[in-house]
Amino acid sequence: MPAPNILFAAKSERWIIYEPHLRHALAAAGISDTGLTTDTDTPAEIDYIVYAPNSPVQDFTPYTGLKAVLNLWAGVEEVTGNTTLKAPLARMVDTGLTEGMVEWCVGHTLRHHLGMDTHLQGQDGTWRNDSVPPLARNRPVTVLGLGALGQAVAKALHQLGFPVSGWSRSAKTIENVQTHHGDNGLTAALSEAQIVILLLPDTPATENIVNADTLAALPKGAILINPGRGPLIDDAALLSALDSGHIAHATLDVFRTEPLPATDPYWAHPNVTVTPHIASETRPDTASQIIVENIRRGEAGEPFLHLVNRDLGY
Ligand code: NAP
Repeated sequence: MPAPNILFAAKSERWIIYEPHLRHALAAAGISDTGLTTDTDTPAEIDYIVYAPNSPVQDFTPYTGLKAVLNLWAGVEEVTGNTTLKAPLARMVDTGLTEGMVEWCVGHTLRHHLGMDTHLQGQDGTWRNDSVPPLARNRPVTVLGLGALGQAVAKALHQLGFPVSGWSRSAKTIENVQTHHGDNGLTAALSEAQIVILLLPDTPATENIVNADTLAALPKGAILINPGRGPLIDDAALLSALDSGHIAHATLDVFRTEPLPATDPYWAHPNVTVTPHIASETRPDTASQIIVENIRRGEAGEPFLHLVNRDLGY
Protein backbone atom coordinates (compact mmCIF):
# COMPACT_ATOMS: atom_id res chain seq x y z
CA MET A 1 0.00 0.00 0.00
CA PRO A 2 1.56 3.41 -0.89
CA ALA A 3 1.98 5.70 2.14
CA PRO A 4 -1.05 8.01 2.47
CA ASN A 5 -0.26 11.70 2.77
CA ILE A 6 -1.68 12.90 6.09
CA LEU A 7 -1.62 16.60 6.95
CA PHE A 8 -1.80 17.44 10.66
CA ALA A 9 -3.53 20.83 10.67
CA ALA A 10 -3.81 22.21 14.18
CA LYS A 11 -1.93 24.66 16.36
CA SER A 12 1.80 23.91 16.29
CA GLU A 13 1.94 23.04 19.98
CA ARG A 14 -0.55 20.23 19.35
CA TRP A 15 1.76 18.64 16.75
CA ILE A 16 4.46 18.06 19.35
CA ILE A 17 1.92 16.22 21.50
CA TYR A 18 0.18 14.26 18.75
CA GLU A 19 3.07 13.28 16.48
CA PRO A 20 4.42 10.33 18.52
CA HIS A 21 0.91 8.96 19.14
CA LEU A 22 -0.04 9.19 15.46
CA ARG A 23 3.21 7.54 14.34
CA HIS A 24 2.72 4.80 16.93
CA ALA A 25 -0.91 4.18 15.86
CA LEU A 26 0.05 4.15 12.16
CA ALA A 27 2.78 1.60 12.85
CA ALA A 28 0.37 -0.54 14.87
CA ALA A 29 -2.06 -0.51 11.91
CA GLY A 30 0.70 -1.41 9.46
CA ILE A 31 0.45 1.94 7.64
CA SER A 32 3.61 3.79 6.63
CA ASP A 33 4.02 7.12 8.44
CA THR A 34 6.31 8.69 5.83
CA GLY A 35 3.45 10.82 4.51
CA LEU A 36 2.58 12.31 7.92
CA THR A 37 3.36 16.01 7.77
CA THR A 38 2.49 19.53 8.87
CA ASP A 39 3.66 20.90 5.52
CA THR A 40 0.90 22.65 3.56
CA ASP A 41 3.03 23.33 0.46
CA THR A 42 1.62 20.51 -1.70
CA PRO A 43 -2.11 20.50 -0.90
CA ALA A 44 -3.15 18.55 -4.00
CA GLU A 45 -1.16 15.55 -2.75
CA ILE A 46 -2.84 15.35 0.67
CA ASP A 47 -5.16 12.37 1.24
CA TYR A 48 -6.34 13.07 4.80
CA ILE A 49 -6.36 16.11 7.05
CA VAL A 50 -6.26 15.57 10.81
CA TYR A 51 -8.00 18.77 11.64
CA ALA A 52 -8.58 21.25 14.45
CA PRO A 53 -11.09 23.94 13.47
CA ASN A 54 -8.75 26.63 14.86
CA SER A 55 -5.95 25.57 12.49
CA PRO A 56 -4.66 27.96 9.80
CA VAL A 57 -6.23 25.70 7.13
CA GLN A 58 -9.63 27.24 6.44
CA ASP A 59 -9.81 27.01 2.63
CA PHE A 60 -9.94 23.39 1.47
CA THR A 61 -10.15 24.28 -2.23
CA PRO A 62 -6.48 23.46 -3.01
CA TYR A 63 -6.82 20.01 -1.39
CA THR A 64 -8.14 18.45 -4.58
CA GLY A 65 -7.34 14.82 -3.73
CA LEU A 66 -8.75 14.84 -0.21
CA LYS A 67 -10.34 11.56 0.94
CA ALA A 68 -11.50 12.77 4.37
CA VAL A 69 -11.10 15.42 7.05
CA LEU A 70 -10.73 13.84 10.48
CA ASN A 71 -11.76 16.35 13.11
CA LEU A 72 -9.87 16.36 16.40
CA TRP A 73 -12.87 17.80 18.24
CA ALA A 74 -16.29 16.27 18.97
CA GLY A 75 -17.96 19.58 18.11
CA VAL A 76 -18.00 20.36 14.38
CA GLU A 77 -20.06 23.55 14.29
CA GLU A 78 -17.04 25.56 13.08
CA VAL A 79 -16.51 23.22 10.10
CA THR A 80 -19.98 22.24 8.89
CA GLY A 81 -20.59 25.64 7.32
CA ASN A 82 -17.29 25.65 5.40
CA THR A 83 -18.45 25.43 1.78
CA THR A 84 -14.90 24.85 0.52
CA LEU A 85 -14.92 21.43 2.18
CA LYS A 86 -16.37 18.81 -0.18
CA ALA A 87 -14.68 15.69 1.26
CA PRO A 88 -16.28 13.56 4.02
CA LEU A 89 -15.92 15.03 7.53
CA ALA A 90 -15.58 12.74 10.57
CA ARG A 91 -16.08 14.09 14.07
CA MET A 92 -14.08 12.88 17.05
CA VAL A 93 -15.44 10.00 19.10
CA ASP A 94 -12.66 9.14 21.52
CA THR A 95 -12.85 6.82 24.51
CA GLY A 96 -10.54 9.14 26.48
CA LEU A 97 -12.70 12.19 25.71
CA THR A 98 -15.79 10.23 26.74
CA GLU A 99 -14.21 9.07 30.00
CA GLY A 100 -13.31 12.64 30.87
CA MET A 101 -16.83 13.88 30.11
CA VAL A 102 -18.40 11.15 32.23
CA GLU A 103 -16.15 12.03 35.16
CA TRP A 104 -16.89 15.77 34.86
CA CYS A 105 -20.66 15.28 34.59
CA VAL A 106 -20.80 12.74 37.42
CA GLY A 107 -18.70 15.04 39.61
CA HIS A 108 -20.89 18.09 39.06
CA THR A 109 -24.09 16.05 39.37
CA LEU A 110 -22.94 14.64 42.71
CA ARG A 111 -21.88 18.09 43.91
CA HIS A 112 -25.42 19.37 43.45
CA HIS A 113 -27.12 16.14 44.51
CA LEU A 114 -25.20 16.02 47.79
CA GLY A 115 -25.50 19.76 48.43
CA MET A 116 -21.73 19.98 48.87
CA ASP A 117 -21.67 23.78 48.54
CA THR A 118 -23.55 24.23 51.80
CA HIS A 119 -20.65 22.74 53.70
CA LEU A 120 -17.75 23.86 51.48
CA GLN A 121 -18.93 27.46 51.83
CA GLY A 122 -20.19 27.09 55.40
CA GLN A 123 -17.04 26.46 57.43
CA ASP A 124 -18.00 29.12 59.98
CA GLY A 125 -18.61 27.18 63.18
CA THR A 126 -22.31 26.60 62.50
CA TRP A 127 -23.47 22.97 62.83
CA ARG A 128 -25.81 22.67 59.81
CA ASN A 129 -27.30 19.21 60.29
CA ASP A 130 -30.82 20.09 59.26
CA SER A 131 -30.76 18.23 55.97
CA VAL A 132 -29.24 14.98 54.82
CA PRO A 133 -28.97 14.45 51.04
CA PRO A 134 -31.66 12.24 49.46
CA LEU A 135 -30.60 9.06 47.75
CA ALA A 136 -29.70 9.17 44.07
CA ARG A 137 -32.69 6.98 43.34
CA ASN A 138 -34.93 9.88 44.38
CA ARG A 139 -33.20 12.47 42.16
CA PRO A 140 -34.29 12.29 38.50
CA VAL A 141 -31.66 13.45 36.01
CA THR A 142 -32.23 14.21 32.33
CA VAL A 143 -29.53 14.23 29.67
CA LEU A 144 -30.34 16.25 26.54
CA GLY A 145 -28.37 14.63 23.71
CA LEU A 146 -27.90 10.86 23.66
CA GLY A 147 -24.89 10.56 21.40
CA ALA A 148 -21.44 9.23 22.22
CA LEU A 149 -21.12 11.46 25.28
CA GLY A 150 -24.72 11.71 26.45
CA GLN A 151 -25.24 7.95 26.44
CA ALA A 152 -22.05 7.33 28.41
CA VAL A 153 -23.05 9.95 30.98
CA ALA A 154 -26.59 8.55 31.23
CA LYS A 155 -25.27 5.03 31.83
CA ALA A 156 -22.81 6.19 34.50
CA LEU A 157 -25.53 8.11 36.34
CA HIS A 158 -27.85 5.10 36.19
CA GLN A 159 -25.10 2.96 37.74
CA LEU A 160 -24.99 5.41 40.65
CA GLY A 161 -28.73 4.94 41.15
CA PHE A 162 -30.17 8.09 39.53
CA PRO A 163 -33.38 7.64 37.54
CA VAL A 164 -32.17 8.83 34.11
CA SER A 165 -34.16 10.20 31.19
CA GLY A 166 -32.75 11.36 27.91
CA TRP A 167 -33.71 13.20 24.77
CA SER A 168 -32.44 12.93 21.22
CA ARG A 169 -33.51 13.84 17.68
CA SER A 170 -34.29 10.27 16.61
CA ALA A 171 -36.01 7.57 18.68
CA LYS A 172 -33.67 5.38 20.76
CA THR A 173 -33.87 2.41 23.09
CA ILE A 174 -31.21 2.51 25.80
CA GLU A 175 -31.26 0.04 28.66
CA ASN A 176 -32.19 1.70 31.96
CA VAL A 177 -32.73 5.13 30.37
CA GLN A 178 -36.21 6.52 29.76
CA THR A 179 -35.87 7.94 26.28
CA HIS A 180 -37.75 10.74 24.55
CA HIS A 181 -37.18 12.23 21.14
CA GLY A 182 -38.14 15.01 18.81
CA ASP A 183 -39.84 18.31 19.52
CA ASN A 184 -42.81 16.54 21.12
CA GLY A 185 -40.62 14.60 23.56
CA LEU A 186 -38.78 17.53 25.06
CA THR A 187 -41.35 18.66 27.61
CA ALA A 188 -41.78 15.11 28.90
CA ALA A 189 -38.00 14.78 29.21
CA LEU A 190 -37.81 17.96 31.26
CA SER A 191 -40.93 17.79 33.41
CA GLU A 192 -39.50 15.62 36.21
CA ALA A 193 -35.82 16.53 35.90
CA GLN A 194 -34.16 17.85 39.03
CA ILE A 195 -30.82 17.98 37.23
CA VAL A 196 -30.46 18.57 33.47
CA ILE A 197 -27.22 17.96 31.56
CA LEU A 198 -26.78 19.42 28.07
CA LEU A 199 -24.77 17.26 25.68
CA LEU A 200 -26.26 18.43 22.40
CA PRO A 201 -24.26 19.70 19.43
CA ASP A 202 -24.52 23.34 18.37
CA THR A 203 -26.74 23.33 15.28
CA PRO A 204 -29.47 25.61 13.92
CA ALA A 205 -32.04 23.22 15.46
CA THR A 206 -30.52 23.21 18.95
CA GLU A 207 -29.71 26.91 19.33
CA ASN A 208 -31.57 28.36 22.36
CA ILE A 209 -33.11 24.97 23.14
CA VAL A 210 -32.87 26.14 26.75
CA ASN A 211 -35.17 29.15 26.68
CA ALA A 212 -37.94 30.69 28.77
CA ASP A 213 -40.41 27.98 27.74
CA THR A 214 -38.18 24.97 28.29
CA LEU A 215 -36.88 26.39 31.58
CA ALA A 216 -40.49 26.82 32.71
CA ALA A 217 -41.08 23.13 31.90
CA LEU A 218 -38.53 22.14 34.56
CA PRO A 219 -39.58 21.67 38.19
CA LYS A 220 -38.82 24.62 40.48
CA GLY A 221 -35.32 24.38 41.92
CA ALA A 222 -33.84 22.38 39.04
CA ILE A 223 -30.09 22.45 38.35
CA LEU A 224 -28.66 23.00 34.86
CA ILE A 225 -25.26 21.64 33.84
CA ASN A 226 -23.95 22.62 30.38
CA PRO A 227 -20.82 20.97 29.01
CA GLY A 228 -22.36 21.00 25.49
CA ARG A 229 -22.09 24.37 23.73
CA GLY A 230 -22.91 27.96 24.75
CA PRO A 231 -25.51 28.71 22.05
CA LEU A 232 -27.75 25.94 23.42
CA ILE A 233 -28.82 28.45 26.09
CA ASP A 234 -30.76 31.69 25.78
CA ASP A 235 -28.60 33.46 28.35
CA ALA A 236 -31.11 36.18 29.23
CA ALA A 237 -33.78 33.56 29.90
CA LEU A 238 -31.44 31.53 32.10
CA LEU A 239 -30.34 34.57 34.12
CA SER A 240 -33.98 35.49 34.64
CA ALA A 241 -34.82 31.93 35.80
CA LEU A 242 -31.83 32.00 38.16
CA ASP A 243 -32.89 35.37 39.58
CA SER A 244 -36.41 34.12 40.23
CA GLY A 245 -35.10 30.94 41.88
CA HIS A 246 -36.89 28.71 39.38
CA ILE A 247 -33.44 27.40 38.45
CA ALA A 248 -31.42 26.89 41.62
CA HIS A 249 -27.97 26.72 40.03
CA ALA A 250 -26.28 26.57 36.63
CA THR A 251 -22.87 25.01 36.14
CA LEU A 252 -21.63 26.21 32.76
CA ASP A 253 -18.50 25.05 30.95
CA VAL A 254 -19.20 26.54 27.50
CA PHE A 255 -20.32 29.97 26.33
CA ARG A 256 -21.25 31.92 23.22
CA THR A 257 -18.05 33.93 23.64
CA GLU A 258 -14.97 32.14 24.93
CA PRO A 259 -13.05 33.08 26.97
CA LEU A 260 -16.12 34.35 28.84
CA PRO A 261 -15.59 38.14 29.16
CA ALA A 262 -14.76 39.26 32.72
CA THR A 263 -17.80 41.55 32.65
CA ASP A 264 -20.26 38.75 31.82
CA PRO A 265 -23.05 38.50 34.43
CA TYR A 266 -22.48 34.76 34.77
CA TRP A 267 -19.20 35.39 36.61
CA ALA A 268 -20.86 37.45 39.32
CA HIS A 269 -24.06 35.47 39.72
CA PRO A 270 -24.14 33.70 43.12
CA ASN A 271 -25.93 30.68 41.65
CA VAL A 272 -23.69 30.14 38.65
CA THR A 273 -20.48 28.15 38.45
CA VAL A 274 -18.28 29.00 35.46
CA THR A 275 -15.68 26.49 34.32
CA PRO A 276 -13.44 27.44 31.37
CA HIS A 277 -14.37 24.84 28.71
CA ILE A 278 -12.43 22.11 30.48
CA ALA A 279 -15.14 19.46 30.88
CA SER A 280 -13.16 17.10 28.70
CA GLU A 281 -10.81 17.11 25.75
CA THR A 282 -9.60 14.75 23.07
CA ARG A 283 -6.83 12.52 24.47
CA PRO A 284 -3.97 12.13 21.96
CA ASP A 285 -3.27 8.44 22.65
CA THR A 286 -6.79 7.10 22.25
CA ALA A 287 -7.77 9.69 19.61
CA SER A 288 -4.81 8.75 17.40
CA GLN A 289 -6.10 5.19 17.29
CA ILE A 290 -9.52 6.26 16.00
CA ILE A 291 -7.96 8.67 13.49
CA VAL A 292 -5.73 5.89 12.15
CA GLU A 293 -8.65 3.46 12.05
CA ASN A 294 -10.45 5.90 9.75
CA ILE A 295 -7.35 6.23 7.57
CA ARG A 296 -7.11 2.44 7.40
CA ARG A 297 -10.76 2.31 6.38
CA GLY A 298 -10.23 4.96 3.72
CA GLU A 299 -7.28 3.07 2.26
CA ALA A 300 -9.21 -0.23 2.33
CA GLY A 301 -12.27 1.29 0.68
CA GLU A 302 -14.37 0.69 3.82
CA PRO A 303 -16.90 3.23 5.16
CA PHE A 304 -15.53 5.89 7.52
CA LEU A 305 -16.61 5.96 11.16
CA HIS A 306 -18.43 8.90 12.77
CA LEU A 307 -19.22 10.85 9.62
CA VAL A 308 -20.93 14.20 10.05
CA ASN A 309 -24.26 14.81 8.35
CA ARG A 310 -23.58 18.26 6.93
CA ASP A 311 -27.30 18.96 6.46
CA LEU A 312 -28.06 18.28 10.14
CA GLY A 313 -24.86 20.02 11.27
CA TYR A 314 -23.53 17.22 13.47
P1 NAP B 1 -23.11 13.11 19.06
O1 NAP B 1 -22.64 11.72 19.27
O2 NAP B 1 -23.20 13.66 17.68
O3 NAP B 1 -24.55 13.19 19.78
C1 NAP B 1 -25.37 14.29 19.63
C2 NAP B 1 -26.71 13.96 20.28
O4 NAP B 1 -27.55 15.12 20.19
C3 NAP B 1 -27.45 12.83 19.56
O5 NAP B 1 -28.12 12.02 20.48
C4 NAP B 1 -28.46 13.59 18.69
O6 NAP B 1 -29.64 12.88 18.39
C5 NAP B 1 -28.78 14.74 19.60
N1 NAP B 1 -29.34 15.86 18.83
C6 NAP B 1 -28.78 16.55 17.81
N2 NAP B 1 -29.64 17.45 17.32
C7 NAP B 1 -30.77 17.31 18.03
C8 NAP B 1 -32.03 17.95 18.00
N3 NAP B 1 -32.30 18.91 17.10
N4 NAP B 1 -32.97 17.57 18.88
C9 NAP B 1 -32.73 16.57 19.77
N5 NAP B 1 -31.54 15.93 19.87
C10 NAP B 1 -30.59 16.30 19.00
O7 NAP B 1 -22.21 14.13 19.88
P2 NAP B 1 -21.28 13.83 21.15
O8 NAP B 1 -20.00 13.25 20.71
O9 NAP B 1 -22.08 13.11 22.18
O10 NAP B 1 -20.98 15.33 21.64
C11 NAP B 1 -22.02 16.20 22.03
C12 NAP B 1 -21.49 17.62 22.14
O11 NAP B 1 -20.69 17.75 23.31
C13 NAP B 1 -20.54 18.04 21.02
O12 NAP B 1 -21.25 18.43 19.87
C14 NAP B 1 -19.81 19.21 21.64
O13 NAP B 1 -20.52 20.40 21.36
C15 NAP B 1 -19.88 18.92 23.14
N6 NAP B 1 -18.54 18.68 23.75
C16 NAP B 1 -18.11 19.50 24.73
C17 NAP B 1 -16.86 19.28 25.33
C18 NAP B 1 -16.39 20.15 26.47
O14 NAP B 1 -15.25 20.02 26.91
N7 NAP B 1 -17.21 21.01 27.03
C19 NAP B 1 -16.07 18.23 24.90
C20 NAP B 1 -16.54 17.42 23.88
C21 NAP B 1 -17.78 17.63 23.30
P3 NAP B 1 -29.57 11.53 17.51
O15 NAP B 1 -28.99 10.49 18.44
O16 NAP B 1 -30.99 11.26 17.19
O17 NAP B 1 -28.70 11.81 16.34
